[in-house]
Amino acid sequence: MTDVPTLPPFAAIIVAGGQGLRAGQPVPKQFARWRGKPVLRHSVERLAAAGASHIVIAIPEGAEELAAEAVGDNAAVHFVTGGVTRQQSVFRALDALKEQGPAHVLIHDAARPIVPVAVVSRLLAALAENAGAIPVLPVVDSLAVAGENVMVGSADRKSLRRVQTPQAFRYADILAAHEAWDDRSAAGDDAQVLRAHDGTIALVQGDEALHKLTFAEDFMNDAPSVRTGMGYDVHRLSDGEELWLCGIKIDHPRGLAGHSDADVGLHAVTDAILGAVGKGDIGQHFPPSDLQWAGASSDRFLAHAAKLAAETGYTVGNIDLTLICEEPKIGPHRDAMQARVAAILHVAADRISVKATTTERLGFTGRAEGIAAQAVATLVLAA
Ligand code: MG
Repeated sequence: MTDVPTLPPFAAIIVAGGQGLRAGQPVPKQFARWRGKPVLRHSVERLAAAGASHIVIAIPEGAEELAAEAVGDNAAVHFVTGGVTRQQSVFRALDALKEQGPAHVLIHDAARPIVPVAVVSRLLAALAENAGAIPVLPVVDSLAVAGENVMVGSADRKSLRRVQTPQAFRYADILAAHEAWDDRSAAGDDAQVLRAHDGTIALVQGDEALHKLTFAEDFMNDAPSVRTGMGYDVHRLSDGEELWLCGIKIDHPRGLAGHSDADVGLHAVTDAILGAVGKGDIGQHFPPSDLQWAGASSDRFLAHAAKLAAETGYTVGNIDLTLICEEPKIGPHRDAMQARVAAILHVAADRISVKATTTERLGFTGRAEGIAAQAVATLVLAA
């Protein structure tokens, strides 16, 4: 656990008034789902968790129901109808906070769902000496001034910064600046409004996590935070074979016959992981007809499934495997099996469970003609 710093009290405003048509979603992007919940709810929850006493959200006219549904039940939140311009929307939200009269206010764009508490902390700290503070990032690319499809000049990137939100202000100063603002001109953000009113604005370190969701790809890349897959496998017990189970060689009169080393445990886990990320099954990746896999160690199949999962953005949360057999006894090997599977997957051993059962001498497993295995894999979206 990282320590959550104690922050000075503050209120927050979220500007959610845009139509967000560029994002290609059926509803304005601030109400669309992203990483399992509406975009707007992410920043509401993060600002509330950082300690915002009140959260005023400026929404489009007629969007009350959509907004209430997007935010969920939250006593700290209330809505105002936004204006024609961003500046008007913020002004209305500032006005709605007059009664509370907070010392500090954070003004944030709904399209930036991830609000790191460290950034909030830096912003509020900077308000001790300044009327405003904004998170910025350096410009890493060189810059061209564009004319009609031709470059007409350049700019020194070292003197320029990319500006993010939330932006933090002393409430009285930003309210006065908005009251004095010429309503007919557009303001890109609230720092520009305060600057026009002679307020000093500190630059604090921003965070790439504050990335603004803009285009349809931001939503297409959306993915569930947890995925589950299952795997099942059976191999025949034969004389004259080595017995490999869960990557462990077991001293036993008979071994498993079949594709590769016929390790049913690893095959079931491999299929569970492939299933969780929708990447087919073990037979597609390593066909039994392909001679290069004859007698191969199944470690590599499992490692390959984990690699495919990682490429999809997932890591193993946990694995639960059940071996179904009359023989051998699994208990004496359980710890070694869990450790081996964990090592192949590069996870802690406590994320791997190996269980065993018999079938009361019923069926092919009961007659010790073969061993069956079933596995469930839970994969989590990598941070
Ligand atoms: Mg198999």
